[in-house]
Amino acid sequence: MRMYDIIEKKRDGFELTDEEIRFFIKGYTDGSIPDYQASALCMAIYFRGMTDREITTLTMAMEHSGDTIDLSDFGTLSADKHSTGGVGDKTSLIVMPIVASLGAKVAKMTGRGLGHTGGTVDKLESIPGYRIALDSDAFLKQVHEIGIALVGQSGNLTPADKKLYALRDVTATVNSIPLITSSIMSKKLAAGAHNIVLDVKVGSGAFMKTPEAAAELAGKMVTIGKMAGRRVTAVLSNMDAPLGYNIGNALEVQEAIEVLKGRSKGDLYEVCLTLAANLIHSVFDLPLDEARAKVTAAIDDGSAFATFRSWISRQGGDVSVIDDPSLFAKAPLTYEIRSPKAGYIARMDAEEIGLVSVMLGAGREKKEDAIDYSAGIVLAKKTGEKVEEGDLLATFYTARGEILSAAEKRYLGALSFSEAEPEKAPLIYRVIT
Ligand code: URA
Repeated sequence: MRMYDIIEKKRDGFELTDEEIRFFIKGYTDGSIPDYQASALCMAIYFRGMTDREITTLTMAMEHSGDTIDLSDFGTLSADKHSTGGVGDKTSLIVMPIVASLGAKVAKMTGRGLGHTGGTVDKLESIPGYRIALDSDAFLKQVHEIGIALVGQSGNLTPADKKLYALRDVTATVNSIPLITSSIMSKKLAAGAHNIVLDVKVGSGAFMKTPEAAAELAGKMVTIGKMAGRRVTAVLSNMDAPLGYNIGNALEVQEAIEVLKGRSKGDLYEVCLTLAANLIHSVFDLPLDEARAKVTAAIDDGSAFATFRSWISRQGGDVSVIDDPSLFAKAPLTYEIRSPKAGYIARMDAEEIGLVSVMLGAGREKKEDAIDYSAGIVLAKKTGEKVEEGDLLATFYTARGEILSAAEKRYLGALSFSEAEPEKAPLIYRVIT
């Protein structure tokens, strides 16, 4: 078999065989197929697309290009979630203990943040003492004993995706539905869970800017997950504004605690309820309204928070900060952003706001950058809210006094104001099963 013929076949719009797709992934992973041929094939896929069978074969070839996690000990009870990336998205910290408190088994690997989106590993590391690395025996033992463990990515999971994603990033081939689907789903399949809920973000802070584009991606990921024998649900949720009010690692953990304690019932609570209810519906085959009632009860009766607390404690985290979030380390500087005019907030560019939080020290521009866990933004007003001139819009937390005025300018530039009340976009666009 020759890579040249595979590129030519896809370039001319034909369907590749399973053997051709596996030949490509094996050869690209072991280095026998060079970057220039892999990029040519990615570009041909970008223009010609792939059938569901081709995407399934590509996904499974990538899944098996390295280590996979075996969660068969947990039968069909294992549950995982994936977000396509948002600003202020701390849903994993809330959804996973909720579903674990209801009997699902959560053995989750999670990543660090880059650019405008944060990562769950960074949020967890803002809790003093939290151990992000566990060996595989300790990881599975913890899930058997308390139903939940969250660790950083380790081992050699999906090396084909690591290489291919880096190549796509520099060859203008990221934005292809078959390639995104296989990239995301190969990682989720390799991570082993039987039930997977995908939080596909839509809007100014998301990879997918329109509900139509997000629905197309979500539909493909659900189909491919099913063809691979897993139960997959996708929730299309709004990312036209940051989720919740806090952006930045320790600040986001504090907001997650508020939701788990039932003291915060806004957009973040609603998205978490929807994600958790869909996972419980999938794991236990319960009607969705019953699943939702169980999720609400787990928050109201304190069991979700109790599971969160025991999980953090078991992984070495200092629970005194969980019990009293005022003990989290504080940023040395706070800076208030006031409204330059009266009116309604018509639009927030969530991606820009995520980048302001990076300027303040809460995220990374490059992989090697250090993070200031106490840095970030607490929003006071979000899209659709009415403001008077001089009202508080947000508070910055940082150690970087020198960037405050540039960050303020950028934050205000990310907002648009209107005289009339703006139309409200849905928080949940669709659920695809
Ligand atoms: N996220 C991924 O993991 N892969 C893609 O291709 C795009 C977004």
